[in-house]
Amino acid sequence: MKKSALAVGVDVPWVTSWTEETVIGVRPCATVAGRPALVQTDAAGFGRPQYSQNHLVRQRQTVLRMLCPMCGQPTQAGDRWTQVARQTPAGLLRRAGKAVGLSRDIEDRRVVIDAGSIAPLHKACVDRSLRYCPHLKADPNVNVMPFPAQWTVLPLLIEAAPMLETGELAGAAVLVVTFLQLVGITGRTDRDWRFRKAPREPQPAS
Ligand SMILES: [Zn+2]
Repeated sequence: MKKSALAVGVDVPWVTSWTEETVIGVRPCATVAGRPALVQTDAAGFGRPQYSQNHLVRQRQTVLRMLCPMCGQPTQAGDRWTQVARQTPAGLLRRAGKAVGLSRDIEDRRVVIDAGSIAPLHKACVDRSLRYCPHLKADPNVNVMPFPAQWTVLPLLIEAAPMLETGELAGAAVLVVTFLQLVGITGRTDRDWRFRKAPREPQPAS
């Protein structure tokens, strides 16, 4: 298969999945310290980009290593920006069931930034994607904010059971990591958090 004329990390976000990248099942993965995770072959630039779908392994790398999902290069403290993340008291995130595994040290009134599965971008990459991406241009929820210096990572889990070729179960189900959720922790608190409305789900960048 011929390589696409679209350049990965320039025309298409680095984290975007391509049609030639197949999900191959569950393997211990270095992106989650060897835990079982859903993995996908690596053939970025082949086939067609699937803008609404992140590549499983590259997504985990962006969050783990703070790589910009647009260009794939590391971001530095002071140049980490979110585009569509939502600020919310941690209590509301918990109430919405979107903070599974969030440490109890982070109190309910603590304002956090739920970036969903989208690691922060370089400012230059934010500006470029806002200029060229039709989805972002049309998104009323775009709100460019600096990402806090502190954050926590929550693995998003599914239950998976080993299967034989015949379709029979071959063992007990285990919890398997799919994507990593990133939650920024601000220095602010919201005493009246109980009276706020639940946050909207952040949309994937494209
Ligand atoms: Zn970048």
